[in-house]
Amino acid sequence: MSSMTRRNFFATIGAAGALALAGCNGSGQPAESTDDTQTTDEASYTLVKEGVLTNVAELGFAPFEYIDDEGTTVGFDVDLSNAIAEKMGLTCEWLPNQAFDTLVPTIKQGGKADISIAGMTISDERLEQVDFSDPYLNSNQGIVAAAGSDLNSESLNAEGMQVACQTGTTGDEWISENLPNATKVPLADVTAALMGISTGLYNAMVIDLPVAQNMIAESFSDLEVVEEIPTGEQYGIAVSKDNPGLLAAINDALAAIEEDGTMDEIKQKWFGTTEI
Ligand code: GLN
Repeated sequence: MSSMTRRNFFATIGAAGALALAGCNGSGQPAESTDDTQTTDEASYTLVKEGVLTNVAELGFAPFEYIDDEGTTVGFDVDLSNAIAEKMGLTCEWLPNQAFDTLVPTIKQGGKADISIAGMTISDERLEQVDFSDPYLNSNQGIVAAAGSDLNSESLNAEGMQVACQTGTTGDEWISENLPNATKVPLADVTAALMGISTGLYNAMVIDLPVAQNMIAESFSDLEVVEEIPTGEQYGIAVSKDNPGLLAAINDALAAIEEDGTMDEIKQKWFGTTEI
């Protein structure tokens, strides 16, 4: 996307944001609103910080959440959470980076963050710990290896093969289930894992396909997706099971964002298409 289009997008969102802020009641309850996309009879919910939707995520997962050259947290999920907060008459804050495998426990424990919007796949295992919003994006896994390496899920399933993943992710689980003969290398940081392939430390990484494609295009031209794995995952927003009113309000906001074109705008901005 050209910087001009991006600026226009921000100008539009900025104006909408100012309106939403002006309408914020600062109580942590859903704001009264004349906007008919918003329901005002929502059950009440609690927030860690009054008037603020507080997010926690692992911030090395471009294009969903990452820290840009200016040190700002940006990405698809950031725009989405801002849009959700706006619909709820709240502002939005992101906590500092946290390892991916600590996110579900943090939400479950409560007190620190209201939601985790983190490119997180809805799974039965996680649903035992937290609730998830309605799905907001489809995703699959990809195997990343050195360009031209000819590796695939068959050749990687062999003794001596070092296959990296981000700890606690669905990619981590996929390796355990499908590459039992390889050595799995769980790491906290995606960039460190990809760098390890570049330098020959690891043979491959299993990671969400949109992230693999983005990181290769932006920073790792020496790597490629050698195999796509159609896992049929869906991303959702994790919310504490103790906060059903918040889950309902987030689902209402998500539906409104789908309906009024905001979701398509955000998809277009980060993926250059609405077909994702
Ligand atoms: N979607 C994957 C999962 O939920 C990876 C998420 C991530 O690394 N941020 O496990």
